[in-house]
Amino acid sequence: MSLTSTLSIIKPDATRRNLTGVINARIEEAGLRIIAQKRIQMDRSMAERFYEVHKERSFFDELCTFMTSGPVVVQVLEGENAVPLYRQVMGATNPANAEEGTIRRDFAESIEANSVHGSDSPENAQREISFFFSEIEIVG
Ligand code: GDP
Repeated sequence: MSLTSTLSIIKPDATRRNLTGVINARIEEAGLRIIAQKRIQMDRSMAERFYEVHKERSFFDELCTFMTSGPVVVQVLEGENAVPLYRQVMGATNPANAEEGTIRRDFAESIEANSVHGSDSPENAQREISFFFSEIEIVG
């Protein structure tokens, strides 16, 4: 058994609708442990740096505007195969394509306001975790 970590963000559409608790319940029910968590307001420069890999995509500007439109909850999740497991719990990017029982199928408002972010590889997880958290904030 080897535990790995992933970075989760509960996005502004979800914090606005008071869904932090129900999303955390989905995370914990899936066997993932929330080992760090904080509620923050991202500013433009943070959002642009976080989503740098998407800077050539047509929706980059809109995405940064959305991610700064309200508070987000950033989290480190730990578990067996945490990265792919959380991607399963989240569901597909577009809620219309997300499987039943997934967070995005049940809560997302649109392909953009899709309630949660989860790292897409262990390498990106490490980069994204250290973007938001220092070592002493992560207590496994
Ligand atoms: P993810 O890994 O499932 O979050 O998807 P991506 O890495 O492809 O995209 C990052 C985020 O950009 C998504 O979670 C959405 O919030 C947003 N996004 C993706 N595709 C679109 C799109 O076609 N239009 C808009 N407005 N936003 C999008």
